[in-house]
Amino acid sequence: MPRALLSALLLFSSLLPHSALAQWQQHQWDVMGTRASVTLWSEQDAAPLFAALEKEMSRLNILLSPWVEDSELAKVNRLAASEAQTISAEFYALLEKSRDYYQLTGGAFDISFASAGHLYDYREGTSPDEETLQEATRHIDASNIQLLPANQVRFTDPGTTIDLGGIAKGYAIDQGIDLLKRAGIEQAWLSLGGDSYVLGDHRGRPWGVGIRHPRDKDAIAMRLPLSDIAMSTSGDYQRYFISKGERIHHIISPETGKSAGELVSVTILTEKSIDADALSTSVFVLGREKGLALINRLANTSVIIIDQQGEVYYSDDLVPPE
Ligand code: AMP
Ligand code: MG
Repeated sequence: MPRALLSALLLFSSLLPHSALAQWQQHQWDVMGTRASVTLWSEQDAAPLFAALEKEMSRLNILLSPWVEDSELAKVNRLAASEAQTISAEFYALLEKSRDYYQLTGGAFDISFASAGHLYDYREGTSPDEETLQEATRHIDASNIQLLPANQVRFTDPGTTIDLGGIAKGYAIDQGIDLLKRAGIEQAWLSLGGDSYVLGDHRGRPWGVGIRHPRDKDAIAMRLPLSDIAMSTSGDYQRYFISKGERIHHIISPETGKSAGELVSVTILTEKSIDADALSTSVFVLGREKGLALINRLANTSVIIIDQQGEVYYSDDLVPPE
């Protein structure tokens, strides 16, 4: 949350009459390669809830990270081409969800993007050479991932590598919000990098959630009044480097194995964070025309797109500002 907004919230809450302990409480930590942040209203000390959220998100990181050597996902990447692997129901359900999005997006959302995507090192600023990239891109094809009965998965191509980076943060937020709801929390804002969920309203008024300006990390491109909704922004500024004047970033077109180049920011609003997350990555890959067409077909789902020229486009259900 932008600091100015947070201090406004804290000031506002301190003016309200409330029981001795009821207050906005806030916590931030690093997980899943990004920053997690939660703000909630509670009459009790929220420290145990914050600890429970941290624990749940570390659990998911250990399950799903391609970089944690004995995560289920890393094991599948190592072994599923040799023989079918039995995985947890939870991981299996995420693979099914990913397959659904692969089908819905005509292949734009493809967790096997990693077959080529893992050859980039965004921290070091290195890319594969053209020949290596082309060879690896031939292995991007989610139809190589066979989901078998009894929670088994097999890869039909030994060059296949998967990564749930386009959907895992959204899933983690949904899990976190369930945890908060079960604890009786009615008003909260939970975010992981570009993904967030706002639970309830902000003591009678909507929360003001900002979309980051894609080219100025300290600026907000626009602020939306939201409650009980998931919001996910995919941007070309989240993980990138510049090479020979070209921006090389983390959202990969499955056709080319290269960064998707048409858009700079895609924000999805919908009911569940897992869907918002998958769809923001998908629309980023699809580009403006196909992306808008897809979102306009889906119920209760909105999109705000910013392209390379800085033009903003909205799905049909939103009324653009004059
Ligand atoms: P997000 O910030 O939610 O758009 O997620 C970006 C992440 O999605 C990247 O860091 C990759 O882990 C993953 N990703 C990149 N390209 C794709 C793609 N075409 N399909 C699915 N996931 C992708
Ligand atoms: Mg995403």
